[in-house]
Amino acid sequence: MDQHQVLIFRGGDESGAAPGKGDIVGRVLVLNAGSSSVKYQIRSGAERLASGTVERIGEPGSPAADHEAALGIVAGELAERDLGFDSPELTAIGHRVVHGGTVFTEPTPITDEVVRGIEALIPLAPLHNPANLACIEVTRRLRPDLPQVAVFDTAFHATIPPAASTYAIDRETAVRLGIRRYGFHGTSHAYVSRKAALLAAGSPANVIVLHLGNGASASAVSAGRCVDTSMGMTPLEGLVMGTRSGDLDPEVIFHLSRREGLSIDEIDRLLNRRSGMLGLCGDNDMRAVQERVADGDPDAELALSVYCHRLRKYIGAYYAVLGAVDVIAFTGGVGENSAPVRERALTGLSALGIAVDPVRNGRGESLISPDGALVKVAVIPTDEEFEIAEQTLGVVERTNLE
Ligand code: ADP
Repeated sequence: MDQHQVLIFRGGDESGAAPGKGDIVGRVLVLNAGSSSVKYQIRSGAERLASGTVERIGEPGSPAADHEAALGIVAGELAERDLGFDSPELTAIGHRVVHGGTVFTEPTPITDEVVRGIEALIPLAPLHNPANLACIEVTRRLRPDLPQVAVFDTAFHATIPPAASTYAIDRETAVRLGIRRYGFHGTSHAYVSRKAALLAAGSPANVIVLHLGNGASASAVSAGRCVDTSMGMTPLEGLVMGTRSGDLDPEVIFHLSRREGLSIDEIDRLLNRRSGMLGLCGDNDMRAVQERVADGDPDAELALSVYCHRLRKYIGAYYAVLGAVDVIAFTGGVGENSAPVRERALTGLSALGIAVDPVRNGRGESLISPDGALVKVAVIPTDEEFEIAEQTLGVVERTNLE
């Protein structure tokens, strides 16, 4: 049987339907390559058949000298569980690709031309897109028969209107160099905003998603379409993150260069790797920060207050952008687990109908606003691999029907 000719059962849809006779349960290898890591999962809807990470690629002492070697390790780990690259039950491979620019605004079947398109976007994501391309190159070689789909981190934000995506700089320069707000964490914002919208009484739902992990970003979503997001041309803009500064007066960069003689690369590293919570208090793990705050540590207290103040500002801004808000959703390692961050970020917003029930919040319940609140506040665990697998299967199905 040619598996690409039949309808694929989407095991994880919200209806909870069981596969029928003759349905193929779509099985997707999801690859998420960073500059020095490759994360993988094999998904069949909500089911996670295998998962793992190869880290410290290219670092001294690492088992993987480059991404190709890392994929060799992934292949070995999967083969041990009879789920290897050569498995006939694999339906497709879904690659998370960080930057799709303005060219790729939806999940895209990978062809030679698409590979060239992702290559052309390397200047916008110099660390990430080459890693994604390295993985794509290897898996296309290993399984040329299998559909491979690129799912872009930027794509969900492609609907952001020009008023929100345009930086107020010289127009000709901006257009020529692709300088605009793209936004990132798109698969997470898509997945969580869709789940959050199910909680809204009316439709179309207006949702604010706060994805708070090591990286952090906020988005404003109306009727399923993203209308604003906090990350910009790169993932440096916006919220305070583990090691990234988020919003900053650009003059700070000139000042660092003129006064400290730092090179552009040094400032890049400073703002991306030694700022945020790490720069403020020496810890980028929110658990450690919270423990220090509980012990009365003033540096940790300042760091947490800067973090939560920035969050509150974005919530207020996106309230104004949307005009009305049905649901605020917290996700990511911090959003899902940190009751203090959720409480502090939403303190003082009761005039907007936003409040947190301390008991529900402390327990980490899925709905943490009080009964009858104008705005529902929810904790929604993200699942980017599920989203990538689903979008990948969607492309395979559409391609079958064409
Ligand atoms: P990534 O962005 O790399 O996917 P995660 O979404 O897993 O990362 O988020 C990692 C962050 O979540 C870390 O800063 C970690 O401290 C934080 N975190 C995890 N568990 C907790 C917890 N129980 N309380 C507070 N923060 C937590």
